[in-house]
Parts: sequence; structure tokens; C-alpha cells
Amino acid sequence: MRIPAVDLRAQLSAHHDELYAAIHRVVDSCGFILGPEVEGFERDFARAMGAAGAVGVGSGTAALELALRAVGVRSGDEVITAAFTFAATAEAIVHCGARPVFCDIEPGTLTIDPSLVDALVTPRTRALLPVHLYGHPADLDALSELCRRRGLWLIEDAAQAHGARWRGRPCGSWGDLACFSFYPGKNLGAFGDAGAVTGNDPELLARVRRLRNHGSRDKYHHEEVGFCERLDALQAAILSAKLPHLSAWNEARRRHARRYSELLADLPLTLPWNHLDAYAVVHLYVIRTPHRDELVRALQEHEIDAAVHYPRGLHRQPAFIELGLGDVVLPETDRAANEVLSLPMYPELTDDQIQEVAGVVRNVLLERRTR
Ligand SMILES: *Cc1c(COP(=O)(O)O)cnc(C)c1O
Repeated sequence: MRIPAVDLRAQLSAHHDELYAAIHRVVDSCGFILGPEVEGFERDFARAMGAAGAVGVGSGTAALELALRAVGVRSGDEVITAAFTFAATAEAIVHCGARPVFCDIEPGTLTIDPSLVDALVTPRTRALLPVHLYGHPADLDALSELCRRRGLWLIEDAAQAHGARWRGRPCGSWGDLACFSFYPGKNLGAFGDAGAVTGNDPELLARVRRLRNHGSRDKYHHEEVGFCERLDALQAAILSAKLPHLSAWNEARRRHARRYSELLADLPLTLPWNHLDAYAVVHLYVIRTPHRDELVRALQEHEIDAAVHYPRGLHRQPAFIELGLGDVVLPETDRAANEVLSLPMYPELTDDQIQEVAGVVRNVLLERRTR
């Protein structure tokens, strides 16, 4: 039996009835855009993320762009972010007309290295956009302090970190605004594209709310040129049905991660780091080895789907090289991009599956050692 990287079908069968009830409720109401389903989800999601409010939007990418625009990022500005992330993080900055300034990462958590940020700040820097990669929070104490000291907006890319906490306080409640994705494979996933922005400042949240709906506060009263980036009612209802299960799913992911790490502990590879101050939600379980390609081949032969998140830093992607962003030295980003390998990770993973995956990894690495 194939072991997929993510098993959406397992989650659907476990919660089939509640999810279909939510879908039928919306279809029968014929209220498809905004309205009570979206408002209800926004209230519950904000509470779950420890934030004063949330605004549902069309995707995680839209969340990032609207958050940056809401704090006033525009043409000529610079935003410091990681290159070791999904392209959307930097795309959002470019779409605002601003320039992403790539900061290298800590080799342990693979998130922005706070000690490197200061040197990148210029008079044009408007915001810092750290990524809680793989569900592990960036160092939010150090980064918040830095933003206060240098007068920068702090926007969290929490697209992989629903329910993660730093020193007990949830990701999504630290930044001036924080951005979540409900892409189907994320820890909290919709049945299509969806996202949210959370925050504590009512004015910033109101601006995001306006921007997502054609810059209007009331119907046909347009205060600024906005976007069509609303969360739709169907997705909101599905997300509302799933939200109560998020903590249990995150706990399951953490359990599976501990089990993997137990089974792989004595092998010559680097296991995922868990900072003592972090409650990581293991969106991905990522090991590091210079023998990655060999491992991928062996896993494929055993019908195990392993993936690489991400094979190169954004400074090595043609889209960003073309913008003149390739000329930076990011040794830890390059090293991680060459070594990372994501093993199958989802809440419904069974112990047999974990043992099978770990067994293949073990065989490859031990055989290598005796060769
Ligand atoms: C998924 C993701 C996004 C984009 O979210 P979408 O909903 O796919 O637009 C942004 N940043 C990171 C780190 C992501 O993992």
C-alpha cells in the first residue's frame, strides 16, 4: 500500500458527516459570499489563534499581500524575509511593488536568524516577514524586540503554523498582522483555496477587510482600490467544522514526529529541531542528509512519497533572479535546500506506516555505512 505524503482522504472519511452537513447548510442557505458563515469562522479562528480578530481571505498568498498593503508597504519599500520558504512569501512583497531582502536562516529551526536582521535594515525597510517554517515558530521574542527597536512592522507568515506557539503564546498573535493559508494540505485545510489574516489592531484588520472586498466598507462605497479576495461561505463552513479538531490533529502530528525521531535517532542524519520555547505543529517532518537523492529513490521504490520543501532558496529561482535578487550569499539556506527531505506526515498516519518509512531510511543509511 502506497504511503502518501499527505492523506486528505483519511481525514475526509473520519469526519465525512460533519463536513457534508456543513456543505449542505451553505448550499441550502444560498448565502455564498461573506455573511454569517464567514463571520462565525473568523470569530472562532481568531480566538483559537489568540488574536483579537481575523479576516477570511481567498488564499494564504492573498493574506500576505493584503497584510503588507494594510500596513502601507508600497513601491520603493524593502521587506526583510527568508529565501528558504514557498515562493508566495516573496511574491506578495513583489506584488506590493516592494523589494524582498533575503535573510539567512538558523541551521537548527530553519527560520530567520535574528542576529542577521539588523545588518539588512536600511532607511527603506518597512517590515519584517518571518516564516514559521514546517510549523516551527521563528524566534518571535527576538524578532518582536527588533521590530520595536527599528520601527518595523512585524508580519508573520504562519501559513504552516496553525496552533503553533512560542513561549506559550500562539503564532498569529505576535505580529502586527499574521497570515494563514487553508490550502488543502495545510494543518487546517479547506476544500479549495482559502486564507486568513489575524491581528490585534482593529484598524489594521478593518483595512484588510476593506482591501479583500474591492476597497469597500459598505456596499458601493469604495474608499480605496481593493481586491476580490474574500473567503467564501462554503470554505468557511468547512473550516468551522474542522477547527475544533485542530488541536488533536496537531497533537497527533507531534506524536508521529516523536516516533519518527525515536526510530531514526541512531542514524547519521539530522533530525528536526524543536526549540525549547517552541510548540511546533509539524506541518512537515523534515530530516536532513547529504544523501537525499539516494533516499528519495529508495522511498519511491517502496511506494513511499517523500518530497523536498524546498529544493532551492528563492534567491536561486529564475523568477527572483530576474528581479535582481539572486546576488545574495545565504550559506545556511543553500545547505538546507540541498539536504532537506520531508517524510510522510499527517494526523492519520499509523504506527505501521511510520515504522515502514523509518525502516527504509534506516536500511539505506546503514547499507551506505557498510559499503
Ligand atoms: C502555503 C504557503 C503560502 C501560500 O498559501 P496559499 O494558500 O497556497 O496561497 C505562503 N507561505 C507559506 C510558507 C506557505 O507554506
